Amino acid sequence: MYLRISEDRTGQQAGVERQRDACLKRCQERGWSVVAVEQDNDVTARGSRKRPGFEAMLKAIVSGQAKHVVAWDLTRLQRNRRDELRLYEACKTTGTTLVLINGPELDFSTATGRLVADNLGSLARYEIELKGDRQVAAQSQAARKGLRSGGRRPFGYERDGITVREPEAEAVRAGYRAVLAGESLGAIARSWNAAGLPPDQKKYGEGHKGEPSEWTRSNVRIVLMNPRNAGRRAYRGEIVADAVWPAIVDAATYEAVKAILTNPERRTRPTSARRLLSGVALCSICGATVHAGGSARRGVATYRCSASLGHFARMAEPVEDYVSRLVVARLSRADAGELLVQKDHPDLGMLRAEQSGITERLGQLAAAFADGAVTAEQLRLGTARLRARDAEIEGTLGDAGRTDALGALVRAEDVQAAWDSLSTARRRRVVDTLMRVTIHPPGRGVRTFKPETVGIEWRTADEGDR
Ligand SMILES: [Zn+2]
Repeated sequence: MYLRISEDRTGQQAGVERQRDACLKRCQERGWSVVAVEQDNDVTARGSRKRPGFEAMLKAIVSGQAKHVVAWDLTRLQRNRRDELRLYEACKTTGTTLVLINGPELDFSTATGRLVADNLGSLARYEIELKGDRQVAAQSQAARKGLRSGGRRPFGYERDGITVREPEAEAVRAGYRAVLAGESLGAIARSWNAAGLPPDQKKYGEGHKGEPSEWTRSNVRIVLMNPRNAGRRAYRGEIVADAVWPAIVDAATYEAVKAILTNPERRTRPTSARRLLSGVALCSICGATVHAGGSARRGVATYRCSASLGHFARMAEPVEDYVSRLVVARLSRADAGELLVQKDHPDLGMLRAEQSGITERLGQLAAAFADGAVTAEQLRLGTARLRARDAEIEGTLGDAGRTDALGALVRAEDVQAAWDSLSTARRRRVVDTLMRVTIHPPGRGVRTFKPETVGIEWRTADEGDR
């Protein structure tokens, strides 16, 4: 027996005692013995989805304990199509009879009973899907208007998702600047933690057992990758509109940081224990990057070719000193300010427009393939070409952020002191922005450093091509 205690708005609903009596009577008439009486209180549990009585009843059906379910009616179920569907399916699988005092008797062991159940079930399923479609349509429409669709408070904004929360917004801006200057996500996480601006646990993940949550590389990345910070509304991973909330950073900064963070090379290289030129300089023999390695003599850092056979290993410090001196000399020159001017002034707006055009054409191509208008081979070629151009644009957007690495140094009174005060991560970025470094083997039995064993190719306009 399944009973419900509900608010009697119409005066027609029976009290729980009357329900129980009617159900008991029906059982006696049929000669059924009562194995369980389950009930839910809809009055106190209003708005809650928990209905332990209903769940217990389902369990009794599925386990075969109950052969018949006797209930007053299913009014409450009609407001919950999912539960209704579950009940029909449980009854159908097990051939359980559903007897309603105020309604039909559904014998699921007969063909007719199953037909009725199928129809009721598909009606329920249809309503569930319809509701889902409406929700999706509403969400997509809201997104296209640049509106927010709720959720937890995003870092940098108030709970309404629209008002900027200034201390956090400033931390976010500093985070973008730090990425452009070559800092690691770990360093940004530490600075946000030190500033006492903890992440929302539910939104950005929980901390270690019981401890307050804190910023890590991964949740800092989630924040910085979010297009909302540039005032854009994304829906299912795509930018669909300008958002109604103000941007924290400008679009060019956001794009440049996104390009850096999505660069696959960045992900595979650990940031710890890196030296100035590891992953930046190249082996002169094979073109592989060099990495800082263990040393023949303990305590002396070396650079090694990262190819499997390794073309050389040589002391790191003389090479670093040489490169550092070149950097400081270059940035101390009177015309250093020109380095901050983009050589070919990429028009970021146009590039982004081209990118969204590419996305659209990819979609059209896929649609044309589905219609049979293009062959699989044409689809493959067309897609590859569009993707290649897309990657090229990403690269250019990334370059646009590179000048940020140099700003502080160029403007410094004392370039040497400014250089010395930079973290290794920032120095690496400066080197990578200014020059391409190739390292040659040191030569047999050579003890003194020879500048010609380090190739420098300037990336700037006046000193040669990139
Ligand atoms: Zn090599």
